[in-house]
Amino acid sequence: MKHDKGQDLTQYALRLEGDNVPMVRFQNVTKKYGSLVVLDGLNLDVAEGEMVTIIGPSGSGKTTVLRMLMTLETIDSGVIYVDGEPLTHMEKNGRLVRANAAHLRLIRSKIGMCFQHFNLFPHMTALGNCIEGPMQVLGLSKQEAEERALELLDLVGMAEKRDQHPSRLSGGQQQRVAIARALAMRPKVMLFDEVTSALDPEVISEVTSVIRRLVDQHNLTMLMVTHQIGFAREISDRICLFFDGKIEEQGSPEMLLDNPQNERTQQFLSAVL
Ligand code: ADP
Repeated sequence: MKHDKGQDLTQYALRLEGDNVPMVRFQNVTKKYGSLVVLDGLNLDVAEGEMVTIIGPSGSGKTTVLRMLMTLETIDSGVIYVDGEPLTHMEKNGRLVRANAAHLRLIRSKIGMCFQHFNLFPHMTALGNCIEGPMQVLGLSKQEAEERALELLDLVGMAEKRDQHPSRLSGGQQQRVAIARALAMRPKVMLFDEVTSALDPEVISEVTSVIRRLVDQHNLTMLMVTHQIGFAREISDRICLFFDGKIEEQGSPEMLLDNPQNERTQQFLSAVL
């Protein structure tokens, strides 16, 4: 594995300060697997309360962006900031150095993630799934955790199913419980990786409306990867189209999907729409 001993970090801030600090910033981020460059000097800001969706061809680096935010991947160069703090690096004697495992664990608590395949604990009820993390990781009492979990299950329209196990729930219902479970950890940023891909078309709107409500009413910052362009159009404030580990074009859903400016975007969209 390549280490960043030689990376010149002097150009990067120890933390972002000022009026318009983005909730997420990828600053000149490069990620390689061997000789394969997966993210190529990526610059991406997501404002607080913004819903940004990444679309693009398979292999263009979309999931890698989420995995890097989850600190599941190392970084080759550049810095990622979350809420103004470097995610991948930490301050030591007034300088930025690569983050150690303890720092990564701490910082990971700012990020919640939902996946295509829900990944609920099968032996626990909907409520049980939502209290486990807050009790084990945040140290909440059972009563506190249950109060919060019930509010969140209510928010996603699943309070009535609190005592059901995942096997008794539909895909859309399981995904809504998974969203409540992620929110129970009080993340600053929520990541969604193909959360509607495993769902039947008729239940996609259940999940879409829950996510849109979270953005509109709770000012959560969200970054989503999807290949379902209709879902992206309905839910996003901004869509970024990735090619070869870079943003090829970005804009509001109307701008990007109805009036794409560059040729590669037009070709991609005409193939998938
Ligand atoms: P996308 O989500 O846009 O389909 P990914 O971010 O999953 O793309 O992957 C980008 C590229 O990185 C792909 O070519 C993929 O094969 C490669 N890749 C992803 N993870 C690994 C890994 N752990 N080792 C080697 N190559 C990987």
